[in-house]
Amino acid sequence: MLELETHELTLYSIILFLLLESLIEIYLTFRQLRVYHGSKTVPKELRDVMDAETFEKARLYGLDKANYGLFKTIVCDVMISLFELYYGFMALVWMRSTQLSETFGLNPRSEIHVGCLFALLLNVIGTLKEMPFKIYSTFVLEERHGFNKQTAGFFVKDQIKAFIVAQVLTLPVSAAFIYIVQIGGKYFFLWLWAFVGAISLLLIMIYPVYIAPLFDKFRPLEDGVLKTSITELANRLKFPLGQLFVVEGSKRSAHSNAYFTGLFGVKRIVLFDTLLLNKGLPADDASLTESDKGKGCKNEEVLAVLAHELGHWKLGHISKNIVIMQVQLFLIFLVFSQLFTYAPLYEAVGLPAGEKPILIGLMVIMMYVLAPYNTLISFAMTIMSRRFEYQADAFAVGLGYAKELGQALIKLQVDNLGFPVYDWMYSSWNHSHPTLLQRLERLTTEEGKKKR
Ligand SMILES: [Zn+2]
Repeated sequence: MLELETHELTLYSIILFLLLESLIEIYLTFRQLRVYHGSKTVPKELRDVMDAETFEKARLYGLDKANYGLFKTIVCDVMISLFELYYGFMALVWMRSTQLSETFGLNPRSEIHVGCLFALLLNVIGTLKEMPFKIYSTFVLEERHGFNKQTAGFFVKDQIKAFIVAQVLTLPVSAAFIYIVQIGGKYFFLWLWAFVGAISLLLIMIYPVYIAPLFDKFRPLEDGVLKTSITELANRLKFPLGQLFVVEGSKRSAHSNAYFTGLFGVKRIVLFDTLLLNKGLPADDASLTESDKGKGCKNEEVLAVLAHELGHWKLGHISKNIVIMQVQLFLIFLVFSQLFTYAPLYEAVGLPAGEKPILIGLMVIMMYVLAPYNTLISFAMTIMSRRFEYQADAFAVGLGYAKELGQALIKLQVDNLGFPVYDWMYSSWNHSHPTLLQRLERLTTEEGKKKR
């Protein structure tokens, strides 16, 4: 019989699980592809609001996205990932970082120095690997369906900025991470948790104020009916509204949305310009193209969307998500502290016996050892997120926005060419929001409950 060493067994188990997960992904996408191919007529609930032409456009868009997703899963998650694992890619990058560190004036014997260089190299390689997919998805796929608004120049600048911001964030955090593990003593995972927990909260706070404006233009919402009614709605719910912004998301893509930010104290509400009727501009504004005109929601519908968003806040969904995230971090670091000295984990990814770089330990444990756990948790979170969506919808109904919310959801679905028909298995695995038809149905029952 074939004798396997522990590290080989570890490697093969990792590969097997990743393969299994991708297979599930691929199977579900095939199920959804069958739905795209088979659905030729508008569902009867939507006949009055979606014409056959829009439905067909949405179908072709969905089909294109699913085919692309399938291709990407097979190339990235199956071929490249498994190839990298089998040939010890991570170990190669680590060894290269050790060799190169002197060239960059770093100390090859300092794990922090080598670790930072390693993180940088991984990020560079990762960015290059992703780039063809990003370019295809933006300039071919989205372009073909009329959603891409980026010029090549905007795209290049955007990518460079994103890369720099990512390095400014990851390198110091990686260095601090290694340092804490080295000096933290027996209960270092508590320090790690406190550190990463604090950093993640800090990021949630500074991101909207300092980082997001590097990428997109924000303008305060003009004084007018919309602003007055949003302020009234916020006051009515005792929402600590600071500023109201419109983000020119339309520079990036024609997809629309709204969100609010800020952890403690005052919060800001951000509306995508594409959420607003004619981007919130007068109908004869020179910057509006033919395809922009008539897109977006009327004021009452925007309010209904905000009532839903504020429902997430009022019902504590945001805080719940943050608590879950912190608990998750704690568990990950606890597992890490118990396993990170276990040699076969390092040998499994190609490191020579005795070499145990902390960053590689973290990556192997987070990405591979905990993979089954991550899959389960992410499925559970998807289910929870859909419940939250229903609850926020019910909240908006309670405020009297049932009809407007329904109209807004339909409008957004049509503007974004969302396809309304889904395979139930594909949907329960992938969708953080219930589908349009599910939400419309629930809106009707909630409204009925209210009247009774
Ligand atoms: Zn929501």
